Formats: sequence, C-alpha cells, structure tokens
Amino acid sequence: MYYPEPISKLVDSFTKLPGIGPKTAVRLAFFVLNMKEEDVLDFAKSLVNAKRELTHCSICGHITDQDPCSICQDDTRDETTICVVQDPKDVIAMEKMKDYRGKYHVLHGAISPMDGIGPEDINVPTLISRLKDENVQELILATNPNIEGEATAMYISRLVKPAGIKTTRIAHGLPVGGDLEYADEVTLSKALEGRREL
Ligand SMILES: [Zn+2]
Repeated sequence: MYYPEPISKLVDSFTKLPGIGPKTAVRLAFFVLNMKEEDVLDFAKSLVNAKRELTHCSICGHITDQDPCSICQDDTRDETTICVVQDPKDVIAMEKMKDYRGKYHVLHGAISPMDGIGPEDINVPTLISRLKDENVQELILATNPNIEGEATAMYISRLVKPAGIKTTRIAHGLPVGGDLEYADEVTLSKALEGRREL
C-alpha cells in the first residue's frame, strides 16, 4: 500500500508502540492528519517534554521530574519500610491504593538467569546501599508473582536477612503469572494485607 512518506513515517512510529498493530497505526496516523495543528503541536510537545523532563530518582529509582522524588522527600512517610517493586508503574498502582505509607525502591526489572539478567543489572546494589545508610526494618518484596519476580524476591530476602532486616512478600489476591500494574486496588490491597515473612 502506498502512502506519502510523512504518513508512512508516522505509521512506523505508531507501530513501535506496544499493542498497536499496522491497521491501528494507519488509523491513528490519519486521525492525527485530521487534528487541529495546535493540538498536534501540543501532543508532540507532551511527548518530547515527558522524555526530557523525567528522570529516575537517585534514591529509589522511581520516575520523577525532581530529584529526589516527592515520595523520598516526604518526611511524613514511614522510612523504616521499603516496598520493592519492579517498575515505576507498580509504584503508581500502589499509591492509588492509598493504604501504604512507607517508601519504595524500583528495581527496573527482575533477576532472570535465562535472559542473562543478574542482580547487578537491576537496581539491587542501590537497594543494598540504602539499607546501610537508612534505618530500614522491613522490606516488602512486591515483585511480580511470576518466576522472575519470585526469584528476585528470594534473592533479596536471602541477601538482607543476615543484616536482621525483616522481609515480607505480598501474597493473596494477585493472579499467578500476572503483572502488578494491572491489578485492581482491592486485589492489591488484599495482597499487601496478606504479605508473609520469607
Ligand atoms: Zn525517590
């Protein structure tokens, strides 16, 4: 199928997004062509700004436009508890629930020997140095309930136990093989309630 180059480039860009197939990409490209120019400019600006202005918090690894992030800077939160998650989207899911008042640590992945991903390839070393510097008493290991997530939780648990830090794992409610970010608030709340010591 022939499209003028600017359209095929736009279609290509949309195809790179998750969950967008070629047909949807074409539909979106033509939708953009019919948008008002100012709306298109706003959209393009939002894309560029989101990428440019967001960085990772140097303490917890969460996405933020200020470093340290607002959660790390918040003195009212319980700094003795850190909830360890795989992805910034998991922090947002946990925050929506509003039940959790501790801090976070974002690993940006999970240990996966099959894919050659070890503890040094994700945010584990920064977590260990936090445990040395901060007064942490409990780690809630909220990695995804799949093989990699479980392996990561077990690894961290074994690593920090000798230092006398309690490790708990979120349990009930989350579907096995699922993704934390897709869980609804009630499921996530139950999972947090039912966490157990490893
Ligand atoms: Zn932070």
